[in-house]
Amino acid sequence: MKPFAYAKPGDVAEAVRTVAAEPAAVYLAGGTNLVDHLKLGVARPDLVVDVRTLTSREVTDSPDGGLRLGAASTNSEVAADRRVRERYPVLAAALLAGATGQLRNTATTGGNPLQRTRCVYFGDVTTPCNKREPGSGCSAVGGYTRYHAVLGVPAALPDPADPATCIATHPSDMAVALAVLDAQVQVLGPTGERTIPFTELHRLPGDDPARDTVLEHGDLITAIDLPPLPEGARSTYRKVRDRASYAFALVSVAAVVSGDDVRLALGGVAHRPWRASRAEELLRGRELTEDAVRAAMDAELAAAQPQPGAGGGNGFKIPLVARTVAATLRELTEAPA
Ligand SMILES: Cc1cc2nc3c(=O)[nH]c(=O)nc-3n(C[C@H](O)[C@H](O)[C@H](O)COP(=O)(O)OP(=O)(O)OC[C@H]3O[C@@H](n4cnc5c(N)ncnc54)[C@H](O)[C@@H]3O)c2cc1C
Ligand code: SF4
Repeated sequence: MKPFAYAKPGDVAEAVRTVAAEPAAVYLAGGTNLVDHLKLGVARPDLVVDVRTLTSREVTDSPDGGLRLGAASTNSEVAADRRVRERYPVLAAALLAGATGQLRNTATTGGNPLQRTRCVYFGDVTTPCNKREPGSGCSAVGGYTRYHAVLGVPAALPDPADPATCIATHPSDMAVALAVLDAQVQVLGPTGERTIPFTELHRLPGDDPARDTVLEHGDLITAIDLPPLPEGARSTYRKVRDRASYAFALVSVAAVVSGDDVRLALGGVAHRPWRASRAEELLRGRELTEDAVRAAMDAELAAAQPQPGAGGGNGFKIPLVARTVAATLRELTEAPA
């Protein structure tokens, strides 16, 4: 493991100044993702800045009737909060579908959405990977693609030697729920505070697959705000995985139904949590019959691109995510009030 310096600043402003001043500095929160990457040589910082005790660990009521999740609140604390369970069941369910009890006790609201991809080649420093080592190529194309993207990828098979190629997915369950809830991310950066809509936090690979988000160097997440849902809204999260627990999503669905409105976010299918805007548009004001949901998902997935690869590739995800959306909406509309 590459040696690095460790700093524990006195407050968030000092933490931001410290990271901004050192190009090879990173923040440390629960460490459940970053520490693995330090050990594997995937992350090679010169300085690790511990922010775990600097941001709020509280879940607080917001004046608009929503909730503010302090960046240091743990995944267990948020999932267990009575207000989260009653008002945002989709978030509690997504958190409880992730990792294990021990990990959730340590993982934080700030760190969870910023965890890196679980692409096996990203974690294997002996293989080319544009995300880990820009310009080195992409080992996943034609390789093991079971957990890789089908949306937000080029229509033709990507060129593994192209420095822009990356077909990785974002692995966080929590992030899919935050996307459907239209959460807002509070950021303190070197130039001050700003708010980023959660749906705009993560990016597609574009020409720079090394960047997962729109955050700039030194930006610190201080809190995530959940706007109130309409009265009577129902929400839930469904995750399909290779085994019943302790596995990342093959596909997942976060859904909110309220009156004539349907909100859908998909996990395990793209480089970022995927808000299914086309399907939402087609379902708005419609009765959620099987035919209507199937047609909406056909439209949403029209540009989906299966990736060939070992064991048959990942084309199975396209019908799987459509069926998972149908099952999730059935659960929400058929459950007794
Ligand atoms: C065995 C295992 C199984 C897992 N299974 C799942 C699963 O099924 N589903 C799932 O969703 N997750 C799963 N995870 C991932 C886990 O949820 C994440 O590791 C965790 O949420 C990361 O949070 P953390 O606080 O530990 O972040 P850290 O590891 O401390 O940091 C993660 C990243 O975020 C940055 N960062 C942290 N806090 C901030 C901040 N406030 N502002 C800016 N940058 C920040 C760090 O620099 C780092 O790049 C699993 C992890 C393991 C080890
Ligand atoms: S899919 Fe992305 S993360 Fe995986 S090997 Fe290719 S460039 Fe790296």
